[in-house]
Amino acid sequence: MIVCANPHAAYLERRKDILDALVRVCDSGRYILGDEVTSFERAFASFCNAEHCIGVANGTDAIELALRGLGVGQGQAVFTVSHTAVATVAAIERAGALPVLVDIDPDHGTMSADSLAKSIRYMQQARPDVQLGAVIGVHMYGHPCDVKALLEVCDAHNLPFIEDCAQAHGAKYNGQPVGSLGHVAAFSFYPTKNLGTMGDAGGVCTNDSTVAQKIQALRQYGWEERYISAYSGINSRMDPLHAAVLNVHLGYLNEDIERRRAIAAHYDAALQGSSAKAPYVASFASHAYHLYVVRTPNRQEFMEHMKAHGVDTALHYPAPVHTQSAYVQALAEGRICWESLDATDLLYKEIVSLPMYAQMSAEDVNGVCRALAAW
Ligand SMILES: *Cc1c(COP(=O)(O)O)cnc(C)c1O
Repeated sequence: MIVCANPHAAYLERRKDILDALVRVCDSGRYILGDEVTSFERAFASFCNAEHCIGVANGTDAIELALRGLGVGQGQAVFTVSHTAVATVAAIERAGALPVLVDIDPDHGTMSADSLAKSIRYMQQARPDVQLGAVIGVHMYGHPCDVKALLEVCDAHNLPFIEDCAQAHGAKYNGQPVGSLGHVAAFSFYPTKNLGTMGDAGGVCTNDSTVAQKIQALRQYGWEERYISAYSGINSRMDPLHAAVLNVHLGYLNEDIERRRAIAAHYDAALQGSSAKAPYVASFASHAYHLYVVRTPNRQEFMEHMKAHGVDTALHYPAPVHTQSAYVQALAEGRICWESLDATDLLYKEIVSLPMYAQMSAEDVNGVCRALAAW
């Protein structure tokens, strides 16, 4: 079976470098933060064209800390999409804010600026008790959201814009790398992401030194000096063992993204004229292909067809946030809000993800293309 993702293959490809890096940390005697984490933070900030990167424990914490670093929390609405990993919404709840789910653009599947403006008006009327807090745009599947259009709406309401870049390391918006396009950006380094470690890790990027300093304190109990908290913080440090693995893979990240793009180009060609549609790429977007997601009205048959041809497929995600039981319940209790999510409701029933990872062999890519051609 040709699998959808394979972080073990990334490890095997760089095994010697990774093991050397891990031994370096073990031998250093420094097991919390330190040079390994700092050097990753510097290198990754530079990759994103950002002034600062703060290494944290996972991507969900990165979003929570981005909000808290901006002073967004209790009594404030945070707008994001329902078509995302549930982690985006969980992080808003953890920050104490009220999630508001916004509809997507029917073509590129990321937050619609028109729907954002509508959701803001809706909240102002329906929930005058709640202040406007922030907007989190998700660069879903590695396709950047329409940052300029979203920033216009944010600016009109004086709202900070946070990028959820967990799926988009290496993506670009009008030639600019994601991670420095809004006020703060959150990344995950979960094993299958475009840049992943062998466990959990995350990062927060920003050009705002004041916010960076606050997030740096918040990730370690709110300390501004040792043992003395300036804020009520949490423990969300990045482990140096993960930083060491990430330092290895980061050296190949541009190459890895190019490999993903090359695989996507093969799939695009194999899908010419097919009833299964290749992913739409907006004119402003340079897609990083964390996932290659086709759309087809006959999804069940398509998945069975691919399986019969030895190709695994997956759903990202089988159910948008607003359809999941925890959030149906939260809506009834006023702990989450949404108005209409029509485009989201149409999209999620048609999406299906094909195998996609940088180390895929040419043979496996051809196997997927043959199965697509036979559909
Ligand atoms: C993976 C992911 C996250 C959460 O990252 P974790 O490291 O698993 O906490 C958040 N948002 C999106 C869009 C993701 O894909």
